[in-house]
Amino acid sequence: MVDISPRDNFVVTDVLIFDGSRFIERGYVVVGKGKICDVGEGTYEKAHDDIVPVYSMPDHTVLPGLIDAHIHGLGGNPICLEQSLNFGVTTVCDMHNGRGSITKLQQFASDPANKSRFADFKSCGMGATISGGWPEPVMRLHAKGPNVQTVIDRWPKLQSPHDADPFVQEQVEQCGAEYIKLFHELGDSLKNKMPSTPSLELQRALIEAAHAHGLPAVGHAFSFEGMLELLQCGIDGLMHAPLDKARSDDYVGLFKEKKAFINPTLTCLASQSSAADELQRRFHADPFAQKMLFNTKPRKNLAMGGESAHVQHGIDMTRKLYENGVPIVVGSDSSGQASGQQFGLTMHMEMHLLAHEVDMKPIDVLKSSTSTTADRFGFTDRGSLDVGKKADLILINGDVRDVMEDEQNLCLPIRAVWRDGVLDSRYDQFLE
Ligand SMILES: [Zn+2]
Repeated sequence: MVDISPRDNFVVTDVLIFDGSRFIERGYVVVGKGKICDVGEGTYEKAHDDIVPVYSMPDHTVLPGLIDAHIHGLGGNPICLEQSLNFGVTTVCDMHNGRGSITKLQQFASDPANKSRFADFKSCGMGATISGGWPEPVMRLHAKGPNVQTVIDRWPKLQSPHDADPFVQEQVEQCGAEYIKLFHELGDSLKNKMPSTPSLELQRALIEAAHAHGLPAVGHAFSFEGMLELLQCGIDGLMHAPLDKARSDDYVGLFKEKKAFINPTLTCLASQSSAADELQRRFHADPFAQKMLFNTKPRKNLAMGGESAHVQHGIDMTRKLYENGVPIVVGSDSSGQASGQQFGLTMHMEMHLLAHEVDMKPIDVLKSSTSTTADRFGFTDRGSLDVGKKADLILINGDVRDVMEDEQNLCLPIRAVWRDGVLDSRYDQFLE
């Protein structure tokens, strides 16, 4: 007999569905053994298995679980997985971390017993760091504890293009890397100059090595110049919008030509340019956030931006890229440190800023938080509600389009979160 346990088998019906690319106004989603088994229009009426719970949820929306394309689970602290899941983020993508922390988080996330508690964890392995390059300055300024130097000493110290292939090979073999992360911080939009910056030859070699392993290469740059250089090297995605002003509109053509995407991290830019206080205060005061955060105090600004830095520059460039059809990917750049962003909550902040500052349509913000990210990173098992995908789902009160169009609404009003069809234990009351 087929094993049908209610743990990861259920049906949600009479519900508005966003399947990753389009809306179904009233339909059903059937989950079996943690996978999407069926999605259709109308009311679910196939009465073949009355032991499977059927939740009739009119006036609700079901969506794929959110994917946070950009976190740093520093110290291997599982709060990055737990708090993210509570905010509806079923997958987090780490963008540079210590090897020990990566292993820890991979173990937490992959244990089936933890599906009701932790988000899934994806990794680049360690980032392609050089001695004296990014992210050393941000670690020294904001990381706590006496062992910051020890942590930095363990990061890669890449020097020449010959280091690129062994480096990529190592991330794949030792960390199961699914993408490669470059750092191209020139310091020209920050308060302080960088002690050293990587050569374009090294960056090009890293991107080639990533591609030779079938992996996308994504890169950090906080300045317009840094972004252009990475694009010219052939990067697949930018993990920030720039802090300083666009010198021309040439970047739009370059993004199109290189088929690159952007992860704007607007909350991070606001924090770096010391403009995030009000944003942080409002979102931390949201009752949903108060309930789900481990630490409910608003974050302080990262405040490393120089005179030319302002979040508005990043917003303007993101809008122009959006209008020109460049793919946008949502990621928070949360790191769990004292300043900046919050795991999970900052995804909702980014989605709000993209809807109301960048003027993206709700459906496009939703794609950018789910299917676009999965496509761009090559995660073929998630990001949409197609049959056979993982049953990573969130249930929202109301019509998510109306919720997102009203600027007064902050966090999405989540009623339930499932990872691989398993209900997040924070949402047990959903069953009552
Ligand atoms: Zn980052």
